[in-house]
Amino acid sequence: MAVGGCFCGNIRIEYTGQPIASALCHCDGCRKITGALYSYSLVINPDDLKVTGSPKAVAKVSDAGNRLNNFFCPECGTPIYGHKVDSANNPIGVVILRAGIFDNPELLNKRKPVAEIYTKQRVSWLSPIEGADQYPEGLALP
Ligand SMILES: [Zn+2]
Ligand SMILES: [Zn+2]
Repeated sequence: MAVGGCFCGNIRIEYTGQPIASALCHCDGCRKITGALYSYSLVINPDDLKVTGSPKAVAKVSDAGNRLNNFFCPECGTPIYGHKVDSANNPIGVVILRAGIFDNPELLNKRKPVAEIYTKQRVSWLSPIEGADQYPEGLALP
Protein backbone atom coordinates (compact mmCIF):
# COMPACT_ATOMS: atom_id res chain seq x y z
CA MET A 1 0.00 0.00 0.00
CA ALA A 2 1.18 3.53 -0.80
CA VAL A 3 0.38 6.42 1.53
CA GLY A 4 0.50 10.14 1.01
CA GLY A 5 -1.06 13.43 1.91
CA CYS A 6 -1.16 17.18 1.49
CA PHE A 7 1.43 19.80 2.49
CA CYS A 8 -0.19 20.55 5.88
CA GLY A 9 -1.17 16.95 6.74
CA ASN A 10 -4.92 17.61 6.95
CA ILE A 11 -5.72 15.22 4.10
CA ARG A 12 -4.24 11.71 3.96
CA ILE A 13 -4.63 9.05 1.31
CA GLU A 14 -4.02 5.32 0.98
CA TYR A 15 -3.64 3.75 -2.44
CA THR A 16 -3.61 0.07 -3.37
CA GLY A 17 -3.63 -1.48 -6.81
CA GLN A 18 -2.02 -0.85 -10.14
CA PRO A 19 -2.61 2.35 -12.11
CA ILE A 20 -4.44 2.12 -15.43
CA ALA A 21 -2.04 4.72 -16.83
CA SER A 22 0.43 7.37 -15.72
CA ALA A 23 1.10 10.64 -17.49
CA LEU A 24 2.77 13.99 -17.35
CA CYS A 25 0.38 16.71 -18.48
CA HIS A 26 1.59 20.05 -19.77
CA CYS A 27 -1.86 21.68 -20.15
CA ASP A 28 -2.75 25.13 -18.81
CA GLY A 29 -5.19 23.64 -16.27
CA CYS A 30 -2.53 21.40 -14.72
CA ARG A 31 -0.16 24.36 -14.44
CA LYS A 32 -2.76 26.33 -12.53
CA ILE A 33 -3.79 23.36 -10.38
CA THR A 34 -0.25 22.54 -9.33
CA GLY A 35 1.52 25.88 -9.57
CA ALA A 36 4.21 23.94 -11.42
CA LEU A 37 5.05 23.64 -15.12
CA TYR A 38 3.34 20.25 -15.56
CA SER A 39 1.52 17.65 -13.53
CA TYR A 40 2.30 13.99 -12.95
CA SER A 41 -0.80 11.91 -12.31
CA LEU A 42 -1.79 8.27 -12.02
CA VAL A 43 -5.06 7.24 -13.66
CA ILE A 44 -6.59 4.80 -11.18
CA ASN A 45 -9.68 2.82 -10.30
CA PRO A 46 -11.73 4.82 -7.73
CA ASP A 47 -12.11 1.72 -5.52
CA ASP A 48 -8.33 1.64 -4.98
CA LEU A 49 -8.19 5.05 -3.21
CA LYS A 50 -9.08 5.80 0.41
CA VAL A 51 -9.12 9.45 1.48
CA THR A 52 -9.06 10.67 5.10
CA GLY A 53 -10.27 14.25 5.67
CA SER A 54 -12.61 16.39 3.60
CA PRO A 55 -11.04 17.74 0.41
CA LYS A 56 -12.72 20.71 -1.25
CA ALA A 57 -14.13 20.07 -4.75
CA VAL A 58 -13.67 22.51 -7.63
CA ALA A 59 -15.63 21.68 -10.80
CA LYS A 60 -14.26 22.42 -14.27
CA VAL A 61 -14.36 21.00 -17.78
CA SER A 62 -10.80 20.14 -18.80
CA ASP A 63 -9.19 21.30 -22.04
CA ALA A 64 -9.80 17.80 -23.47
CA GLY A 65 -13.53 18.10 -22.68
CA ASN A 66 -13.52 15.86 -19.61
CA ARG A 67 -15.91 17.13 -16.93
CA LEU A 68 -13.90 16.89 -13.71
CA ASN A 69 -14.16 17.70 -10.05
CA ASN A 70 -10.71 18.45 -8.70
CA PHE A 71 -10.20 17.97 -4.98
CA PHE A 72 -7.84 20.11 -2.89
CA CYS A 73 -6.91 20.32 0.77
CA PRO A 74 -9.18 23.11 2.10
CA GLU A 75 -6.39 24.30 4.44
CA CYS A 76 -3.20 24.32 2.36
CA GLY A 77 -4.59 23.92 -1.18
CA THR A 78 -2.55 20.88 -2.23
CA PRO A 79 -4.19 19.17 -5.23
CA ILE A 80 -5.09 15.60 -4.18
CA TYR A 81 -7.07 14.04 -7.02
CA GLY A 82 -9.60 14.66 -9.75
CA HIS A 83 -12.72 12.65 -10.50
CA LYS A 84 -14.59 12.49 -13.77
CA VAL A 85 -18.29 13.34 -13.24
CA ASP A 86 -21.46 13.15 -15.33
CA SER A 87 -23.74 16.12 -16.13
CA ALA A 88 -25.50 15.65 -12.75
CA ASN A 89 -22.10 15.88 -10.97
CA ASN A 90 -22.05 12.19 -10.02
CA PRO A 91 -18.59 10.54 -10.08
CA ILE A 92 -18.06 8.23 -13.05
CA GLY A 93 -15.07 6.38 -14.44
CA VAL A 94 -11.53 6.91 -13.35
CA VAL A 95 -9.76 8.99 -10.72
CA ILE A 96 -6.72 11.13 -11.54
CA LEU A 97 -4.42 10.89 -8.52
CA ARG A 98 -1.70 13.56 -8.18
CA ALA A 99 1.53 11.60 -7.97
CA GLY A 100 3.47 14.24 -6.01
CA ILE A 101 1.46 13.62 -2.83
CA PHE A 102 3.02 10.20 -2.09
CA ASP A 103 5.26 10.15 0.98
CA ASN A 104 7.83 7.68 -0.38
CA PRO A 105 9.78 8.99 -3.38
CA GLU A 106 10.93 5.44 -4.18
CA LEU A 107 7.44 4.73 -5.49
CA LEU A 108 7.89 7.49 -8.06
CA ASN A 109 11.32 6.24 -9.07
CA LYS A 110 9.74 2.88 -9.89
CA ARG A 111 6.83 4.40 -11.78
CA LYS A 112 7.97 6.26 -14.83
CA PRO A 113 5.19 7.99 -16.85
CA VAL A 114 3.93 5.93 -19.80
CA ALA A 115 2.73 9.04 -21.62
CA GLU A 116 3.06 12.79 -21.88
CA ILE A 117 0.04 14.81 -22.99
CA TYR A 118 -0.37 18.38 -24.23
CA THR A 119 3.24 18.24 -25.33
CA LYS A 120 2.57 21.18 -27.67
CA GLN A 121 2.44 23.29 -24.49
CA ARG A 122 5.56 21.80 -22.88
CA VAL A 123 8.06 24.54 -21.99
CA SER A 124 10.69 24.75 -24.71
CA TRP A 125 13.67 23.92 -22.47
CA LEU A 126 12.22 20.65 -21.15
CA SER A 127 13.00 17.39 -22.99
CA PRO A 128 10.51 14.59 -23.70
CA ILE A 129 10.79 11.63 -21.34
CA GLU A 130 12.51 8.76 -23.08
CA GLY A 131 10.12 5.88 -23.73
CA ALA A 132 6.96 7.83 -22.85
CA ASP A 133 4.31 8.10 -25.61
CA GLN A 134 4.01 11.71 -26.77
CA TYR A 135 0.60 13.27 -27.44
CA PRO A 136 0.41 16.90 -28.64
CA GLU A 137 -3.07 17.26 -27.12
CA GLY A 138 -5.18 15.58 -24.46
CA LEU A 139 -6.87 12.20 -24.36
CA ALA A 140 -10.45 11.27 -23.51
CA LEU A 141 -10.60 9.54 -20.13
CA PRO A 142 -12.19 6.10 -19.71
ZN1 LIG B 1 -3.34 20.45 3.61
ZN1 LIG C 1 -3.44 18.68 -17.72
